[in-house]
Amino acid sequence: MFTCNNLSLLTFTYYLKLFLGISMTIIPLIYFEKLLIKIIKCKEKKEKITINFFKQQTKSFMVIIMVFVLALALHNGLNKKTNVCYNYANSYVLKEYKKVYKMLNKKDLADEIKNNYLENTLIIAVNNPTKSENKELTKVEKLISSAINSEENSKEENKDTLNLQETDYNKQNNVYVENGVFYYPQLINGNWSTYSGTSCPNNPSLEGYNNPYGYNNYFYTRLTAFIKEANANGFTITFSTQGCRTYHTQTYYYNTMTRGRAAYPGYSLHGFGIASDLEFYQSNGYACGYGRNDSNCPSMGWAHQNASRFGLTFPLLNASYKEDWHIEPINKVKY
Ligand SMILES: [Zn+2]
Repeated sequence: MFTCNNLSLLTFTYYLKLFLGISMTIIPLIYFEKLLIKIIKCKEKKEKITINFFKQQTKSFMVIIMVFVLALALHNGLNKKTNVCYNYANSYVLKEYKKVYKMLNKKDLADEIKNNYLENTLIIAVNNPTKSENKELTKVEKLISSAINSEENSKEENKDTLNLQETDYNKQNNVYVENGVFYYPQLINGNWSTYSGTSCPNNPSLEGYNNPYGYNNYFYTRLTAFIKEANANGFTITFSTQGCRTYHTQTYYYNTMTRGRAAYPGYSLHGFGIASDLEFYQSNGYACGYGRNDSNCPSMGWAHQNASRFGLTFPLLNASYKEDWHIEPINKVKY
């Protein structure tokens, strides 16, 4: 897809496609229409259409045929499944892409983030939301009705299978749980043991963090139960494989990302292994991209609606820098 994530290339491809299309359809049509008019005029004047008449037309006829054949050959050469750009460049895609491109130009964002936004814009535009809107709506409707029907049942089910009252006073990576509340240290300047990310486990060897990605085990249990039920409901959601973010990585994010995007080093719950970043997918397998919301990205809608049943929350949904993907345990206390 990203082979076309470039405004000049996309614009050029669009106009090339348009030009080839015109060369193969409108130009020959106009030519033959004019030829027909000439013939009709001759007949009206009762003139005989001689071989000479056709000889006069030969040159222009050859030019038209040449243009047609060349355009057709070029079109066939470009119109391959692997040539994503040529396949998808149309006025709608170009319009959407330009709109986002202009909007991003004014913003102070890292190039990588801008590129991701633009790529997601392409994916969404190519899948044309106006075409799939009806499908999405019925899916949301189904979701709502099934949620109403099954919520009470599944609430009971989850209480049985998922213990949200965990208690374990063993401080692993400085985190412990009591009655389902996650306790983590208050950052004290200069006291490194209170900084998040300073004692991230060496995945997955540290006790309490011995799951595939090195999350806090209690958080991991909640998270995987949540993801499992999402999948069972037909929604694809994945979580970050980075279970515990080191202080060093957090510092890197803080220094390289836009202010407000990454927490100040030492504070992030990622460094205690009790936060994760999720990726949400459409039913066609594409990740929900820029401009997504709970309706046009039903898997995310489901996640936001159901997280609390698993003792989880999305605390940054209304933050100044909205992070609709960032998930944490509901109950947390600094000690
Ligand atoms: Zn996060």
